[in-house]
Amino acid sequence: MTFTYSAEFAKKLDTEDPLKEFRNEFFIPVLHGQESIYFTGNSLGLQPKKAQENVLDALEDWATYGVEGHEHARNPWLGYHEMFPTLLAPIIGARQEEIVVMNQLTVNLHLLLTTFYRPQGKRYKIIFEEKAFPSDEYALQSHIKLAGLSNDALVEVRAREHETAIREEDILMAIEACGDELALVLIGGVNYYSGQVFNMRAITEAAHKAGAFCGFDLAHAVGNVPLQLHDWDVDFACWCSYKYLNSGPGGVGGAFIHGRHVSNANLLRLQGWWGTNKDRRFKMEKTFDPILTAEGWQLSNAPIVSMAVHRAALDIFQSAGFKNILDKSRLLSAWLHFVLNEVNGGGEKLFNLITPANSQEHGSQVSLLMLKDGKHFFEILKKNRVIADWREPNVIRIAPVPLYNTFSEVFIFAEILRKNISLPK
Ligand SMILES: *Cc1c(COP(=O)(O)O)cnc(C)c1O
Repeated sequence: MTFTYSAEFAKKLDTEDPLKEFRNEFFIPVLHGQESIYFTGNSLGLQPKKAQENVLDALEDWATYGVEGHEHARNPWLGYHEMFPTLLAPIIGARQEEIVVMNQLTVNLHLLLTTFYRPQGKRYKIIFEEKAFPSDEYALQSHIKLAGLSNDALVEVRAREHETAIREEDILMAIEACGDELALVLIGGVNYYSGQVFNMRAITEAAHKAGAFCGFDLAHAVGNVPLQLHDWDVDFACWCSYKYLNSGPGGVGGAFIHGRHVSNANLLRLQGWWGTNKDRRFKMEKTFDPILTAEGWQLSNAPIVSMAVHRAALDIFQSAGFKNILDKSRLLSAWLHFVLNEVNGGGEKLFNLITPANSQEHGSQVSLLMLKDGKHFFEILKKNRVIADWREPNVIRIAPVPLYNTFSEVFIFAEILRKNISLPK
């Protein structure tokens, strides 16, 4: 599509948007007495209106039934979590038995590292990416320590000098160079800082060729970019639900474990009663008999209130259709890159994009490295009711998300930048 830089063109895109009604399913935060332009759905997605009703239902069932709600609630609590694999399968690109909704991201990462990081002899190294989310790095460091190893086990792949994205070939080369010393590759499917999407299929293939396992942190990928974890043969993955999945602050997370592994009862794992054979669970026996699906990694009974919100959020994904969401996302993103180029193209350059321009390598998010007065622009955005995200020293991250952002909002954002480029500070 050929874009024109104008408010009318943005409006036309909004009118033709088949998903435009879905914005009404969300509460839009208010800033300075008006609806904000909310561009931080990559950090905390907006609240689905239906969430409150679902939560109240869950609370009412608890009030009505007490412990009997496990069996008699509208959605009985014993099996409440079992509804999620169906809803998530198209988003994750996985089979139902490979998905479990439980805990939160970092907890799930630890559980999966316990299974998939088993250093042995000279095979002990872990490859991860530069500017990985700190929580992931902390988790990795602790598993290195638990194994009695030193930090040389952690191999960081970096962007080349004067470049901001990490080249795929550099990741693949690092994997090959580690060879039979490599135990695991753990990478963010989409880097939280740059918004770069990694080629998960190629990375997995290279890791397997080296004889290592491969896992992904999908915090910024899930609900944002197409995933085919099963077909890509990924060993494991984990995600949180409060970013693009709109399931509320600290909401319940999820994990993927490939079908190849879930059927293996002998895989080492941290065990809990919710991971054992459902038919015998309440016999309170001594023997742990793992469920041969991803549920075999569950520890505790399910957090129903948090899951009630998750359900409201995923119901929206289901009614909109994930493919349609991705289609709009691509168009919205192309529009964003177009208007940013228009603003940045004439005269003085205001920013560099850290996020790769190639549409295969980014999702909704763009990260703007401000060349000067970054903080000043960030404040101007806020004054103009744009909620964006600031990262020291000089980066503004924004993510227009397809379920509730509009093409017009993207245009207004660009106009704010354009009109303020030459204002005196
Ligand atoms: C947001 C995010 C997390 C957050 O971890 P929690 O355990 O949910 O607090 C972890 N990793 C990445 C890559 C993230 O973007």
